[in-house]
Amino acid sequence: MTQGLLSDLKKSLMERSKFHAGYPFNLNYDYSELLPFFAFSINNLGAPFIPSNYQIDSRHLERETLAFFAKLYQAKDWWGYVTTGGTEGNLYGLLLGRETYPDGILYATADSHYSINKAARFFKIPHTTVQSQTNGEMDCEDLRSKLNPNYPAIINLNIGTTFKGAVDNIDRILEALAAKSIKDSHIHCDGAMGGMLLPYLAPEWVNFNQPIDSLAISGHKFIGCPFPCGIVLTYKELADKLASHIEYIGSKDATIGGSRNGHAPLFLWYAIQKRKHLFETEVRECVSKAAYLHRQLEKAGLSCSLNPYSTTVVFPKPQEATVQKWQLATLGNLAHVVVMQNHSYELLDRLIADILEMG
Ligand SMILES: *Cc1c(COP(=O)(O)O)cnc(C)c1O
Repeated sequence: MTQGLLSDLKKSLMERSKFHAGYPFNLNYDYSELLPFFAFSINNLGAPFIPSNYQIDSRHLERETLAFFAKLYQAKDWWGYVTTGGTEGNLYGLLLGRETYPDGILYATADSHYSINKAARFFKIPHTTVQSQTNGEMDCEDLRSKLNPNYPAIINLNIGTTFKGAVDNIDRILEALAAKSIKDSHIHCDGAMGGMLLPYLAPEWVNFNQPIDSLAISGHKFIGCPFPCGIVLTYKELADKLASHIEYIGSKDATIGGSRNGHAPLFLWYAIQKRKHLFETEVRECVSKAAYLHRQLEKAGLSCSLNPYSTTVVFPKPQEATVQKWQLATLGNLAHVVVMQNHSYELLDRLIADILEMG
């Protein structure tokens, strides 16, 4: 009975993994060397920098993992932790903004991920929706007109929006803040997927030398991992505020979770050791394949789009059978493909044929 169900599940997972194009999950990885570590209850409970009495942990690898991302984003005096995914990183980053500026207003575009609304709701942060340009990027004229000069601003800056892969322009955001003489601001960067693309394509576009305050990236998206995970980075000084605030209510930990997955840092650390010299090539290959997909669909007469620093190709929603077969994400009459490492040109050609034939 159990055997049968397990082998059915395995078969279906294998089949569904073959035709997957809609979500930004890199399915190309080999963690088989780490299988023996599933015999251990690895738990990094508490923070990565504070030892705990529970010693079956991977905190030293968690710190090395974070150091990789800190270097990638030119962060100094940083603090961070390995999260359960991009969502937890966004919750944490926006909570930091809320704790730093209790009367702050959150500004985010409607193209932002739903976890941003979730953070506003959970933490009761007043929330203003800013208009997007058609490519999904923040309309900074609209931001400027909506910024309330009497309150601090908590801003969600997207490094790759969920549906269109748009990257917001930090210079325009800073100009809008300056135009309204707003000095108190917390800029959180949501780089769930695009956060691993941008530093390899345009490292000066967004990094910690600019006045950003927190950054969230998913681990299971570009890097790829059998289970969801991610990282969040901020300044030590900001994190300390939150930590001491929680201390005040009787807890010493500084993270959203209590018990924390100790396998996640191990997997991320392992992927980084094996592939860090390859990440740039992987990024460039995905961008080239996305440009190819975009070109082929355009040649066939479909109106489609691909943002700079993105591998997300948006096109008119094809027939439901194609959406189902390729597990495409859709929004209204649009669909997208996020081109990842596991998508070969041959696979993209089959996808294109299906879109064009059945669409
Ligand atoms: C996927 C995504 C998230 C959420 O990340 P999870 O790892 O799924 O929690 C947040 N923001 C953006 C822009 C995303 O694309």
